[in-house]
Amino acid sequence: MERKTIIAATRNKHKIVEIDAITKKFGMDIISRDEAGLPKDEVEEDGTTFEENSYKKAYEIMKISNRITIADDSGICVDYLDGAPGIYSARYAGEECDDAANRLKMLAELEGVPAEKRGAKYVCVITMVFPDGETLVARGECRGHIGFEEIGTNGFGYDSIFIPEGYDITFAEFEPEDKNKISHRAEALIKLEELLKERK
Ligand code: IMP
Repeated sequence: MERKTIIAATRNKHKIVEIDAITKKFGMDIISRDEAGLPKDEVEEDGTTFEENSYKKAYEIMKISNRITIADDSGICVDYLDGAPGIYSARYAGEECDDAANRLKMLAELEGVPAEKRGAKYVCVITMVFPDGETLVARGECRGHIGFEEIGTNGFGYDSIFIPEGYDITFAEFEPEDKNKISHRAEALIKLEELLKERK
C-alpha cells in the first residue's frame, strides 16, 4: 500500500495521537502543522456546527500547505444542558480555560441532577480536504453519561467524567487502545476509511 503523509489541522496533541493510531492502519502518516513548518496562526472556529468548524480548519490549512489535510472538530453534548457545551466544549469555562476548569464547571452545572438525567454524547466530525478541493466528511458519536466525580488519569478533556454506554468506568480509566475502538473519533475515522476506499 502506498503510504500518504497528511497534515493534521489540529494542534491538540491528544487528538493527533488518537487520529494517528487509527489512520496509520490505513496507510496514512499524520504530521502536525508545526512539523510541516506551517504558520502558527489559529484558524478561527466561528461556525455554528461541528461540520462547519471542521471543514474550515481543514480547508484553511490545505490552502496554506497545498497538501492533504485532516481536521477534527469535536465536543460533548449534554442532554440536561440542551446539548451544551457542544461546539464550545474547549472553551466551556471561558476563553482562557483548561480541561480541568471545563470538567469542574460541568460537574457544578449538573450538581444534584440524578444519574438517569445525566445522558451525554461525544461528537467528532473529521474532514479531509485534498488540494483539488475534494472533501470527505465523516461524523462519529459515542453515547454515555456524565459521572458524579472525576475518575481516571488517561485521555484528556472530559474523559474522566464521561462513562460510555455499556460500561461502568470512565474513558479516563480505559486503556488508550480500547477507547480508540469505541470512541466518537474512532467511529468517524472508520467512516472516513470507508469513504477513502470508495474513492479509489
Ligand atoms: P475542538 O478543538 O474545538 O474540536 O475542541 C474539542 C474539545 O472537546 C476538547 O477540548 C475537549 O474538551 C472535548 N473533546 C473532544 N473529544 C474528546 C475526547 O475524546 N475526550 C475528551 N474530551 C474531548
